[in-house]
Parts: sequence; C-alpha cells; structure tokens
Amino acid sequence: MVMIERQKPVEQDMVERRSNFNPVEENFTAEQAKLEASRCLNCKNPMCKKGCPVSVNIPEFIQEVKNGNIQKAGEIIRETNMLPSVCGRVCPQERQCESKCILGIKGTPVAIGALERYVGDNSEPVEVKITPNGKKVAIVGSGCAGMSAANDLRNAGFEVTIFEALHETGGVLRYGIPPFRLPRTVLDREIKGLKEKGVKIVKNVVVGKSITLKQLKEEGYDAIFICSGAGLPKMMGIKGENLNGVYSANEFLTRVNLMHANELTTPTPLKVGEKAAIIGGGNVAMDAARTAVRVGYKEVYIMYRRTEEELPARKEEIRHAKEEGVIFKLLRAPVEIEGEGGLVKSMTFEIMELGEPDASGRRRPVGTGKYETMDFDAVIVSLGTGPNPIIQDSAKSDNLELNTDKKGYIIINEKGETSINEIYAGGDVAPLGESTAINAMGAGKRAAKTIIEALS
Ligand code: FAD
Ligand code: SF4
Repeated sequence: MVMIERQKPVEQDMVERRSNFNPVEENFTAEQAKLEASRCLNCKNPMCKKGCPVSVNIPEFIQEVKNGNIQKAGEIIRETNMLPSVCGRVCPQERQCESKCILGIKGTPVAIGALERYVGDNSEPVEVKITPNGKKVAIVGSGCAGMSAANDLRNAGFEVTIFEALHETGGVLRYGIPPFRLPRTVLDREIKGLKEKGVKIVKNVVVGKSITLKQLKEEGYDAIFICSGAGLPKMMGIKGENLNGVYSANEFLTRVNLMHANELTTPTPLKVGEKAAIIGGGNVAMDAARTAVRVGYKEVYIMYRRTEEELPARKEEIRHAKEEGVIFKLLRAPVEIEGEGGLVKSMTFEIMELGEPDASGRRRPVGTGKYETMDFDAVIVSLGTGPNPIIQDSAKSDNLELNTDKKGYIIINEKGETSINEIYAGGDVAPLGESTAINAMGAGKRAAKTIIEALS
C-alpha cells in the first residue's frame, strides 16, 4: 500500500514576506485537498471530533472532500461552525482536533485545519428562509461571538442589531489578528453575509457610554447579548511605561491593522524606528513581533522570562516568527524602561533562571540578580488583556445588578445567562474556557439557542 504523506500548503517565501501583509500560507489546491482527505480513516469512533470545541462532524466533512462534494462538506461544517474559513486559519488545531487524530499516534495527523479552510473558502452557507417573529435582540460587539449569535438569531426570525464601538466590524479578527494570518476578504465575506440576511450593524456606538443597557431595554429589545471581548491591556507597572514608544500589543496591532498607521497617507502615524522589544511569549506577542518586522523595524526581539520550552505561543507561530528574523531573547524579565526627551531609549531586564514548577505546572522564573540593558525605540507589551469595565460600570450606575468576578469578567451559567433577566453574555468578556475564536463562536451559538428557547 502506498502511504500518502500529509499535504503541506505552499508558504510565501520567508524573506519576501517580511515586507508584505499577504497571507503566509496559500490554500490547498483541489488535488492536495483530495489527497489529504483520502488519508482519513473515517473512524467509527472519531477522536478528532471529541477534540473540537464545537464538535464539528470531521470525518463526515472529510469524506465529502474526498468525493469532491465541497459544497456538501461546507454544509456539514456550518451545522456547528459558521466560520470555517476563519477557524481553519486561526484555531490551534495541534492542541484540538488534530492532537486527537488516530493517525497522529504513529505518524502525522490529518491536516484537518487546512481542509476546513479549503472547504470554508470554496463553499457557501445555505440560504435560510427567514420568517420574522416580531422580537428584537441587541448584540453588543461584532467579534466572533457577536457574529455567530447574530447569524443564528436572524435565521430564527429575530430582528437583530449589532452595536459596535469601533468604526469597523469583526472585533479581534479585524483589529488584532494580522492579515497575513487572516486575509480581510475572509472576514468581509462573513460580515456581508450577515448584512444580506438583514442583520443591522451600528458602528461607533459604545454601549455603556453612547447608550446604556437600560436604554436598550427601554427601546424594546427583548434580549441583549453582551460579547464585548476583553480588550483592556495589562501593563507591566514599571518605571518608564508612560514614555512615547511604549505600546500595548493591542494598541500597536490596532494602529496597523485597523488604522493602517504604517501607510504614510493615514492620519494615525507610527514612528518606526530601528529596534522593537516585544514583552511576552504568547500568540499575540508573535503577531506583534511579525507585524513589527513588516512595518520596518530592523531588529525585533521577543523578550520572555522563561525558556523556549515554556513559550505559550503556537509552535507554528514561533517557527514563522523565527523565519521572518524575529530574535528570541529568553530568560529576561522587565525591570525598567529608560527614556530620553520623552521617548523610549533603552530597557533593562533581569536575567532569570528556572526554579521549581509553579501553579501552572511550568517552571517558575527566578531572578539571578544580574541585569542587561538594551537599546530600543519601541516597547510593545503583550502580557494579556482583561475586560473593559464600561458596560459593567454603567449597569451598576443604573442599578442593574450585573454580576462580575474579581477581574471584571461577566459571570454566566452554562446557558450564557447573566444575573439579569433577558441579558446574556459570552465570548472573551464571559469566558467559560480558553479565550479562542472557536470558543467565542461557540458561546455566541449557545447564547442564541438560549434566547430562542426563552423567547419562543
Ligand atoms: P472580540 O473579538 O474582542 O469582539 C468584541 C467586540 O466588541 C469588539 O469589536 C469591540 O470593539 C466591541 N466592543 C467592546 N466594548 C464595546 C462596547 N462597550 N460597546 C460596543 N462594542 C464594544 N484565538 C484563536 O483561536 N486563534 C488565534 O490565532 C488567535 N490569535 C489572536 C491574536 C490576537 C492579537 C488577539 C488579541 C487574540 C487572538 N485570539 C486568537 C483570541 C480570539 O481572537 C478571541 O478569543 C476571540 O476573537 C474573542 O471574540 P469575542 O467575540 O469574544 O470578542
Ligand atoms: Fe479521520 Fe483522524 Fe478523525 Fe480518524 S481521527 S476520522 S483519521 S481525522
């Protein structure tokens, strides 16, 4: 029997891609997709499906790819996942479906993510006949959670309005994840689909400021779904953090992805210098580092306090960053940022070593008492984010008891219900697990189901 090797998407040349935002990976060709699909054993008890947070019927869609029925394959995926083109590109499949694939035990798992992306890009959602039910729902935030809830609620006949604080839709998919990982055409297509089915999108409205939850209720919304994400950056709290040239990763990425600050013609300029330090080692840090390379910093460093083994970013992102020239300086903890004339000039780090494992199971970084100072013109802080408290605070001033935890995340039950009747939440602002695109999308679906049941 001839063994077929796992198919690899073609990647853009690693030197060329340092100066453009075009996708790094191309989609499978039709032939590659068929070959890859033919590797699947169509297991009776498919472990891959158990590894998928929304239980996509993986073997069934792969069989359709094998038979050349791409539209049918798309319909199978969209039964549980309305964003296959997005998830096929950004889901950490190596920790989810692919980590469970039986072929991975002795060899390489089926490339489920690449197949999902291929199917998503080459199939269309089934048109649903919408019968209005006379009820209306407000959705706060147009990210993954908001889009998926809007889709299901609209299909069920609700009048749906999404209120979005920014001037563009898509949430993190638009302002955070760079286009070289998620081309904007993919996102635009999903938003267009929502608009075509009658979902209203009102931009530049900050719920909690421009309009409150109480006012939305007074305007007659039968239910409100809060999915405002977790866009408030955590900073380091060290000396020099207020200097010009210090950015949170979210701000830096938003400036480039949303406001095109790297283009000379835009009103939001980005002063690109020689050297940038990215503080942190997660996926967001990799996105910031790879974006810094593309906007023209000559040397881009990932400064991380543990070793490469503990880097939380996806292996693929680390590989891509290295290929693009990002330098990894490990076992370095931030101490202070030094400035000159109000601008970042350098940054001092303590050199660390690894001690005993901490609560996360990873070995704890311990200071050695030795320090290193390096010159930088930009410091980009990527140490995580939390929820913005605007909505929660405004609810409080309106005497609405919206329960939150100590960090400000909205507390929900497994159905997406908050402590207030008719107000639901989900996604990064009310996480029930890892903060990922697929989990946010699943949260949107779950809340939509609860609202449909409650209002039917
Ligand atoms: P968001 O996408 O944050 O959307 C919330 C929306 O609400 C935003 O548009 C915001 O402007 C709007 N909003 C906020 N407050 C208000 C308000 N008061 N009124 C009106 N609108 C408001 N996950 C992965 O699975 N894979 C990845 O590769 C990956 N990479 C990432 C890279 C970056 C840079 C970042 C930041 C995150 C990444 N994630 C990744 C995480 C993932 O994108 C998120 O978990 C997911 O997109 C969250 O979706 P959401 O709908 O809950 O929130
Ligand atoms: Fe196919 Fe792997 Fe899933 Fe089995 S576990 S059905 S081989 S993708």
